[in-house]
Amino acid sequence: MDRVDLLGVKVDACTLAQAVERIARLVAGGGPHQVVTANAEMIWRAWQEREFAAVLAGAALVTADGRGVLWAGRQLGQCLPEQVAGIDLVEALAQHGARAGWRFFFYGGAPGVAEAAAAALKKRYPGLAVVGTAHGYQTEAGEERVKEAIRAARPHLLLVGLGVPKQEYWIARHNPELLVPVAIGVGGSFDVLAGKTRRAPGWVRHLGLEWLYRLLREPWRWRRQLVLPAFALRVLRAKGVFPAGRRRKRDEGRE
Ligand code: UDP
Repeated sequence: MDRVDLLGVKVDACTLAQAVERIARLVAGGGPHQVVTANAEMIWRAWQEREFAAVLAGAALVTADGRGVLWAGRQLGQCLPEQVAGIDLVEALAQHGARAGWRFFFYGGAPGVAEAAAAALKKRYPGLAVVGTAHGYQTEAGEERVKEAIRAARPHLLLVGLGVPKQEYWIARHNPELLVPVAIGVGGSFDVLAGKTRRAPGWVRHLGLEWLYRLLREPWRWRRQLVLPAFALRVLRAKGVFPAGRRRKRDEGRE
């Protein structure tokens, strides 16, 4: 599978089906592995934050989550076949995992949300084994209990919905001792599956306007979305659209 370099982050050029296949191989081989669905905000964060870049570099699979990432790929002459969003990956893995007999553990979201997400998926994919759930607002002691529960349940897949970057750091820090074959940061996917938040309609996604839909529904996100123009400018600069100008020392050799 080809890996595409976007501002120093290696993104796997794969379709949703290929991502599932790859994860199936990782599950079969044993772990611990981390899977990241990277959107433009995350690639920008990796550009800014070395520690986050290191987490992404250590992931076994990094998918292109969002139109911004596909656009960046096109600008830099790299082919990313399609968007592989966290929520779509969860759905596809539930479908595959129900047949393959995988055990899932859902960690994250407000109290009750992970259970509701698991119940919704089990309805759609009978036979799906969810061997544990836990909410994502734990005390330190509570988090220890969650880790104990994960160890005891021995899931094949651990879905962590604590938001970016908390979930990526949590997996990188704790999965090496939990030894779950594949752990994936899934953001707000549990909220969507539980019916707590709604995803943009298909036609809005098709037009590449999911970001606008989210901005209108959750206006407090505007601050987070401020990074998108910065990301776009940096990509265009890496493409050579702008003269090099004054380069910051930090950026040397990174574009
Ligand atoms: N969350 C959590 N614990 C925290 C912070 C957030 O479980 O300490 C959950 C929150 O309830 C939500 C998800 O993490 O379900 C973050 O959703 P969002 O759509 O903001 O994800 P992102 O865009 O960061 O991937």
